[in-house]
Amino acid sequence: KSFAELGLMPELCEACEKLKYTIPSPIQAESLPHSLEGRDIIGLAQTGSGKTAAFALPILQALWEKPQGLFACVLAPTRELAYQIGEQFEALGGGIGVRCAVVVGGMDMMSQSVALSKKPHVIVATPGRLQDHLENTKGFSLRSIKYLVLDEADRLLDMDFGPMIDKILKVIPKERNTYLYSATMTSKVEKLQRASLSNPVRVAV
Ligand code: AMP
Repeated sequence: KSFAELGLMPELCEACEKLKYTIPSPIQAESLPHSLEGRDIIGLAQTGSGKTAAFALPILQALWEKPQGLFACVLAPTRELAYQIGEQFEALGGGIGVRCAVVVGGMDMMSQSVALSKKPHVIVATPGRLQDHLENTKGFSLRSIKYLVLDEADRLLDMDFGPMIDKILKVIPKERNTYLYSATMTSKVEKLQRASLSNPVRVAV
């Protein structure tokens, strides 16, 4: 099936075409029909599977349907991964005017605070730094978030981000969609899954 046949709107199909995503990858083909319908997703997929677009596209489509300010928060285990995710959001969503801020450890807090004050639609963050901004950046909150992504959840937990994720879950609205992606399904990931997703569809490639 094509992206259009999976339910993706024309503007985003066009963005995929521009990036030479000619056919949906297996994780995209399996998850998009459910995520575009508003279901939570557990995706068992490795880097290289196309998982980033699998979670970015339904978020971008939902944002297009109901535009608002800060809309989605993506948690990633490393700086490098966070930047890659941010780049894909901008590549796919730039055409429809979506703005993204990447907020990671080891970088200047002040310039990140400025980026956050400019009201991005999507924040991609490492958990520690996001927590730091929640505590220290005036006027910044996650109260309007409609979509949460936990990317590479097994690595997030291996890096002991669990307690910070728990704190972040407490300040994100319960009325939201959540996508959890992980290369492996460990007992720690299952526990996080139970704490964060509701009635999810499980997709594996
Ligand atoms: P990811 O697994 O999200 O890190 O994606 C791996 C790479 O595949 C990235 O460079 C994407 O730009 C690319 N990609 C994602 N979806 C597709 C697709 N449907 N067709 C071709 N390339 C893709």
